[in-house]
Amino acid sequence: METPRQILKSYYGYDNFRPMQEEIINNVLQRKDSLVLMPTGGGKSICFQIPALMLEGTAIVVSPLISLMKDQVDALYANGIPAATVNSGNYGSSNRAILEKCQRGEVKLLYISPERLITELSWMRQCLNVSLFAIDEAHCISQWGHDFRPEYVQLGTMLHEYFPEVPVIALTATADKITKADIVERLRLRNPQIFVASFDRPNLSLDVRRGYSASEKFRTIMGVIGRHPHESGIIYCLARKTTEQLAKKLREKGVSTGVYHAGLSMEERNRVQEEFVKERIDVMVATVAFGMGIDKSNIRFVIHYNLPKNIESYYQEIGRAGRDGLPAETFLFYNIQDIITLRDFAEESGQKEISQDKLRRMQEYAEAQVCRRRILLNYFSEMTGHDCGNCDVCTTPPRHFDGTVLVQKALSAIIRAKEKIGFTLTIDILRGSFSHEITDNGFQMLKTFGVGKDVSFHDWRDYLLQMLQMGFLEIAYNEDRHLKVTELGKEVLYGRKQVKLAIINREDFRVKSRKERHK
Ligand code: ADP
Ligand code: ZN
Repeated sequence: METPRQILKSYYGYDNFRPMQEEIINNVLQRKDSLVLMPTGGGKSICFQIPALMLEGTAIVVSPLISLMKDQVDALYANGIPAATVNSGNYGSSNRAILEKCQRGEVKLLYISPERLITELSWMRQCLNVSLFAIDEAHCISQWGHDFRPEYVQLGTMLHEYFPEVPVIALTATADKITKADIVERLRLRNPQIFVASFDRPNLSLDVRRGYSASEKFRTIMGVIGRHPHESGIIYCLARKTTEQLAKKLREKGVSTGVYHAGLSMEERNRVQEEFVKERIDVMVATVAFGMGIDKSNIRFVIHYNLPKNIESYYQEIGRAGRDGLPAETFLFYNIQDIITLRDFAEESGQKEISQDKLRRMQEYAEAQVCRRRILLNYFSEMTGHDCGNCDVCTTPPRHFDGTVLVQKALSAIIRAKEKIGFTLTIDILRGSFSHEITDNGFQMLKTFGVGKDVSFHDWRDYLLQMLQMGFLEIAYNEDRHLKVTELGKEVLYGRKQVKLAIINREDFRVKSRKERHK
């Protein structure tokens, strides 16, 4: 019988295992349960595919993504590995025929959706020799994960009941500490060995830009594209409309650009994805619908035009850059408006508290004044004692100043306006700008009117954001998104607490954007 290493060579053409792969394979071959945490592109598939080839019977691979299953099966077939998939995209009769092939021992790996597996389990117990279960995207079983799927939970209990003897290997690229524990519990893994491969991707630079206007964002994006002419990159936007608008602007500048979002037809989505993979399109402007399962190692930049909804999604998305190990750039733009929109999403989501909590962690990351990679690695349970030197905090450490008086001015303006104003109006009051809304409400009579005119509109926005982050302000969940001063804010207002504000680093954009506003 061939060894795992020989199979690696003969079927995949690789000479060496990557870190962890061999240990994981051996654990599965000993018919023990495993939980594998490995970043996207780390090489998870081989960890169950090689045991599947070595063990007798059929390995069942559960994956929530039908398109991904098809790709994997095609790739395996091309390497001479008998794999098949059963899913709702096939005709019923062809699904039946595939299951019969499994029964005859002609399929080594069967890819199946969780819903479908649930309906087939009792048949499988009677008719099939199952070698192992591989549960891909295992974080879907946890409410704490960012992609909860109830079918996974049902599967967890059923597998244990129907196939107590068959080894289970659960795999995920994204799991924080709680999710990890939850996977073990809900899948009822028996004394599992937990493998955590390094999540560190030192070749990705991390850069967060706060409070940029649309034109500042665009200029930064053009800068990134300029550093990577005719190379591949992805720009993620929160809204479909933004993807269309941004793509239009990029095309006007001569950038070869594609658009991808869930509002497009399946044919169109497949077409642009292919164009991107085959490098007929350089830049893909997309919603988060894009990227799952694309196999492209030379993506040179990933830009988040808006704040992602949690750190897991963010890390997975930037992780699509630089898989070849060469330097790649990531940028994250972060605005107050993003938080408002995302808070609304979180509010509406089925798991409000969890979503809000995860969003808060994301904000904290974007706001952070310590090495960003340390925060990310710490989030994924991988402690590191040193700064990375490849993030914006490391390269341009923030400076602070005593912002107590500024903060007091802002909080006082908000209180005097009876906490019935939002960000823009607060700034207008502070800067003493006249507008309809100001005069209609008589805000020009407030004692605080104009007390902050020496600070630019942009800087005020940023300081207010910092105040929100530090918990001096909160956004009311009413239609108008009014600002409220928290108890902590009152401590500052009444002089019981000092505040340090970070000095904003917007390179030379400040001058330009001020000129632009006065055009
Ligand atoms: P994941 O599922 O963790 O995202 P994959 O299993 O799809 O990652 O593997 C990512 C890429 O790495 C694939 O192109 C795969 O062929 C390659 N790969 C996996 N293991 C090795 C190895 N030991 N040596 C070289 N390349 C590998
Ligand atoms: Zn750093």
